Amino acid sequence: MISVDPAQPAAELVAVKGGRILLVGGNESLESLRGAGTRVIDCRGKTVVPGFNDAHCHIFSLLRKLLSIDLSPSSVSSISDIKAAIRRKADNTPAGRWITGTDYNEFYLAEQRHPNRWDIDEVAPRHPVVLVHRSLHACVLNSLALSLAGISGETEEPPGGQIERDLVSGEPNGLLFGMLGYISEKVLPPLSEAELDSGIALANRHYLSQGITSLQDATVTNDLSRWQKLRRFKDDNKLKSRLSMMPGIEALSQFQEAGLVSGSGDNQMRLGGVKIIPVETAGEVYPYQAELNRQVFEAHRAGFQVAIHAVQSATVEAAISALEYARNQLLQAGRRQRIEHCSECPPHLLERLKKLQPVIAIQPPFLYYGGERYLDTVPADRLRWLYRIKSFLDSGLVVAGSSDSPVVPDSPLMGIYAAVTRQAESGQFLLPEEAISPAQALAMYTINAAYASFEENIKGSITQGKLADLVLLSDDPTETPPERIKDIRVEMTIIGGEIVWEA
Ligand SMILES: [Zn+2]
Repeated sequence: MISVDPAQPAAELVAVKGGRILLVGGNESLESLRGAGTRVIDCRGKTVVPGFNDAHCHIFSLLRKLLSIDLSPSSVSSISDIKAAIRRKADNTPAGRWITGTDYNEFYLAEQRHPNRWDIDEVAPRHPVVLVHRSLHACVLNSLALSLAGISGETEEPPGGQIERDLVSGEPNGLLFGMLGYISEKVLPPLSEAELDSGIALANRHYLSQGITSLQDATVTNDLSRWQKLRRFKDDNKLKSRLSMMPGIEALSQFQEAGLVSGSGDNQMRLGGVKIIPVETAGEVYPYQAELNRQVFEAHRAGFQVAIHAVQSATVEAAISALEYARNQLLQAGRRQRIEHCSECPPHLLERLKKLQPVIAIQPPFLYYGGERYLDTVPADRLRWLYRIKSFLDSGLVVAGSSDSPVVPDSPLMGIYAAVTRQAESGQFLLPEEAISPAQALAMYTINAAYASFEENIKGSITQGKLADLVLLSDDPTETPPERIKDIRVEMTIIGGEIVWEA
């Protein structure tokens, strides 16, 4: 057992009662605990760890993805395969209903190109179809979907987006860049109740199979209706993992009017920090610094934790300045400010983080799934500041592990592997000097993630009195050769003392 509790790092036995951890100790305590109705699970040399906590993910996007056709390289290897998969789906879907496919990657397709509208029209002329690129930066629509989206030869390029056109006719060929947000929010109809139900069942099973007993939804469009929908899923026991939902800044007043602030809820479902996403366009960050400062200050003053999304250094800098501003104005710490991603952090910003001590919610799986792309596309003078997990830890920051799923797969074991090895799927290494130990990586996905949502007193370690959220692993990640950590299997997931998933 790895308890992630420094007071008692290893033990042989954990006893559970009433959903909580009753006792952590040696096997000699077994007989004294055994009573009528006691169930003993012999872990046979396997490893028990605290349930994993994904500190930054997106439930509804995952749910949509799980309802979509999987077009990842493990499922298709050519555009003909993609067409066959769409045809099968169209045969079983009433005409006119949207069909979505996710995770295609033209790099791995035999034809070495993106599919286009005409490819899809051949197999699904009467269904609107959208296929989403693995990067989420591109998507492909068939002709019916293009017309429903109001995109034609006359449509001008939208700001930040690009409509690819046939060189001869000038007609859109279906491939759109930077427009997925618009398509998913303004064009795709919301999921029906039936779709939501089957989607949440898939998502629930998925999380439990990964050992994710707690998750933190960081979607910027989270509003009160989303909160209520998730509440229903929880009340109906359709989503077993515990949940923290970060409200979007736009919806802040809705939550205030409903009397909810960060921390409201219970240990099944809790309101997290306000999510703010500044964006960088043409070298400038919006909202402007003064406005960002005001937003953070107001949110804190109203009793909310704040979580600022910041990927590139200009945005990280703006986020730090806004958090510093609020901290100085309030003359108190204790709001446990968060920076989401903090992917690029040059030395002068690290210095400021050291003083500010926000929680960093980082995504190690990006090292594995995106490593090759970073090495190909990020200039060398910026590459060396990417995902500086060891530097953050050495600076005393709490770093919470997460996935940003469904942007990349959310297996915490893959995240631990990536943080320990810094090795990309392609085999290349990305800043190996920023590698951390397996124990540190495990802490990121358990106690540190719990700290990020103010819940370290009730979860994140195997400690007497905490919630009995546990995962049984096929092997011990701290003893396994690092290159094999990603092959460790989740064998059993326990939430509140109840076995909710078994391999
Ligand atoms: Zn995200």
